[in-house]
Amino acid sequence: MSNDIKSYVVDIMSMLKYIAVVSLVVIFIGFLLPEGRVIPVKGATSSDWNKDTFWYEPWGTSGVHKGVDIFAVDGTPVIATTNMLTLYKGELSKGGMVVIALGPKWRIHYFAHLSEINQNMALLLQKGEELGKVGDTGNAQGKQPHLHYSIVSLLPLPWLIDGSTQGYKKAFYLNPIEYLR
Ligand SMILES: [Zn+2]
Repeated sequence: MSNDIKSYVVDIMSMLKYIAVVSLVVIFIGFLLPEGRVIPVKGATSSDWNKDTFWYEPWGTSGVHKGVDIFAVDGTPVIATTNMLTLYKGELSKGGMVVIALGPKWRIHYFAHLSEINQNMALLLQKGEELGKVGDTGNAQGKQPHLHYSIVSLLPLPWLIDGSTQGYKKAFYLNPIEYLR
């Protein structure tokens, strides 16, 4: 190998090392960021959901219910449970009007069936900031207005797997009720 190629390879290697270190630091910081503990519907309490709502079955085409349904009057503000980065806001067939955001610890927060989405919402959301309003869009149409809220861990947590229906998915879908306590 000529010296030119050698120094080129060394440059690439040190660049890759740098990228790896930066990535690890970013992942680590993600875990250090404090998580919020705010109920995502303004004024709601634990009496606004059924304590057995998470993993309730049978649950239509989903099989089991992978979140919490928080019941409220149509138009009640939906707020961010923690500081988060907006990934998507718009319409989905099942979820209706939804907001999807990335929070601390590499967890995705999913807010569904909104009647409207706050159009002035920033990319970076503060805990308690309004995302939209409670509604009955998507497959909640005609049902009692509620917020469907799910938390999905991007990193699998295999110790949460159990023998229930689709129990292996509990490595990703966290029980939001535990989280809001
Ligand atoms: Zn639901």
